[in-house]
Amino acid sequence: MTRLLLIGPPGAGKGTQAALLSQHFGIPAISTGDIFRYNVKNQTPLGVEAKGFMDRGEYVPDSLTNSLVRDRLSHDDALGGFLLDGYPRTIDQVHELDSILSDAGKRLDVVVQLTADSEELVRRLAHRAEVEGRADDTPDVIRRRLEVYESQTAPLIDVYAARGLVAMIDGLGEIADVTARIVEALDARGLTKDA
Ligand code: ADP
Repeated sequence: MTRLLLIGPPGAGKGTQAALLSQHFGIPAISTGDIFRYNVKNQTPLGVEAKGFMDRGEYVPDSLTNSLVRDRLSHDDALGGFLLDGYPRTIDQVHELDSILSDAGKRLDVVVQLTADSEELVRRLAHRAEVEGRADDTPDVIRRRLEVYESQTAPLIDVYAARGLVAMIDGLGEIADVTARIVEALDARGLTKDA
């Protein structure tokens, strides 16, 4: 029963670590970015609304994002625990998640903050642009996404730190080493895979 959040700037490696941790703990990794991309690709009404914001590196409006997450967390597979990758990203989203959890009589266990310096972030995102060709990985949009992260999402770390929930993890180095650091920090908080 683990409920955790992964917070970090674009390029910090959230998606990669989310997949590994999801396996380790046997909980679903829920990425709002992936859900939006799926909807854009399939041209659903949500995708059509989200696309412009994503292409500009802006956040999708809270009203759309919040209802998507409320719905997703009500699915059976998320009842016993989940890992949220890329949500919440705004204070309004923090409040929505608080309300979703308190309605269900549940609470968060830990917020994993993944860090990397901005040079490394830009380097990784430029590399991903070559490999994956994501529409929002162009230099201008990358810059905008980093700015939006700093202004809207970085402040959330303080909010969760005040609740004693933040484990700060260095996201530099080998992927497996970063995973090991996270697992160790979670173990130290009593969150083992059997918990
Ligand atoms: P990254 O962390 O690399 O920026 P994501 O895949 O998490 O990438 O998100 C891609 C885009 O999807 C964001 O730039 C934003 O437009 C949208 N998005 C994802 N999650 C959220 C969220 N919680 N709130 C608003 N927009 C979001």
